[in-house]
Amino acid sequence: MNHDSNEFLIAGNWKMNGSSTLFQSFLAAFDKNIDGVNILICPPFTLLGMTNAGVFSLGAQNVSADNNGAFTGEVSATMLSDSGCEYVIVGHSERREYQSEGNQLIAKKLRKSLDAGLKPILCVGESEETRERGLLVEFLTEQLAEALKGLSADDLNKVIVAYEPIWAIGTGKAASVDQVREVHLFIRNYLRELNEKVGQTMPILYGGSVKPSNASELFDIDDVNGALVGGASLEPQTFKEICLKASEKR
Ligand code: PEP
Repeated sequence: MNHDSNEFLIAGNWKMNGSSTLFQSFLAAFDKNIDGVNILICPPFTLLGMTNAGVFSLGAQNVSADNNGAFTGEVSATMLSDSGCEYVIVGHSERREYQSEGNQLIAKKLRKSLDAGLKPILCVGESEETRERGLLVEFLTEQLAEALKGLSADDLNKVIVAYEPIWAIGTGKAASVDQVREVHLFIRNYLRELNEKVGQTMPILYGGSVKPSNASELFDIDDVNGALVGGASLEPQTFKEICLKASEKR
């Protein structure tokens, strides 16, 4: 997908779940393309590199900030690219929290991903406390500014932003339509200030308890160009229903 594309991007983040058997059941359930939807699966590293991923684009959930060398357990951007993977999630809130990833490290990961020809999905989003203290805009501005610092228009043209309020992830309670509309508009305006043309077309995904029952109302919102789906991406029929809801909006 490039930024001029009119498609929805529906990305499934499997986190540390899944197996080759689960992937096979996805291949069986998604036997043909879904109109107007780019369906992306981000499985664990062990499931990347499949020669026949069917209708799915593949993405990783993390990438090293280094090129190669003595970094036991790490996987570099060029390795991901070499495995046939096209996308990579960068800065997911679980990594920010459990692996203490900060904005500077995330910026390096973005740089490496872009250099290797990957399309990074930059996750941003606030905690409940940050929102309650009225610091939402300040917090998101810092996350975006530090991660995107120094990127050229060409670079930005490959970046995707995912707004994922931490309080909505895995809780079953998605952000409201008004909350999503307000934040996506803020992000859109921020991106347009960085670069009017690229900022206008950069996909902005919403993530946080997306499921078939709320997908339609979310996909109706201006500046929601797709979704990053966690829990509901682990069951083929549920994930397919979300993709079909996106297709109906095209
Ligand atoms: C996520 O972890 O990126 C996510 C959005 O999870 P969930 O859909 O389960 O809230």
